[in-house]
Amino acid sequence: MWEPGQMLKVGFDIVGAPIDIIYVVQRYAVEWERFANIKFEFVQNMATADIRVGFLPNGSYSYIGREAMLIPTNATTMNLGWLTSASASEARRVILHEFGHALGFIHEHSSPTANIPYDREKVYSYYSQAPNNWDRATVDRNIFLKYSVAETNYSTYDRSSIMHYVVPPELTTDGVGVPFNTELSTIDKQYAGYFYPFLQRRLQQQGY
Ligand SMILES: [Zn+2]
Repeated sequence: MWEPGQMLKVGFDIVGAPIDIIYVVQRYAVEWERFANIKFEFVQNMATADIRVGFLPNGSYSYIGREAMLIPTNATTMNLGWLTSASASEARRVILHEFGHALGFIHEHSSPTANIPYDREKVYSYYSQAPNNWDRATVDRNIFLKYSVAETNYSTYDRSSIMHYVVPPELTTDGVGVPFNTELSTIDKQYAGYFYPFLQRRLQQQGY
């Protein structure tokens, strides 16, 4: 994760997308600033940016938090691939989710506390189809991987998290799915504040 209070520069590789897409990203990404003590500064020059956003048509993904610092500055650290054809609410959901990754948050279904009874073969088959076209290794990494308690700061399992994938009920053995989450959940907001505390909380944590 970045430092609380840090100003993160967000730059763009606009190839393949209309210039106005920058304002869509900006508009929704800043919602995190209300709950995390972090500031995004949107800049023209990608090379000077901490988070570098591209729009290639190959899905949406992001490096996790300061992993972005390990990426060469001529490469993007986030891709928002389906944005130009998405509705406003879908664009907002994807931007909130990917900027959650950029702030250091992993997938909620990969939490050590997640315990989703997947029907594994149905999951492989589901994600092998368009638009994902994922092979089994990619499904393993994106769906079945769970982090250990030692390597993540985890909350109680939060099926409402913006960081959770939708789980169609037919992909579980108990027929219970996870809905399409479109908002930051209560725990998302709470944990954003834990890890990026505003000054008042920092002083409290230090005993003032
Ligand atoms: Zn994700």
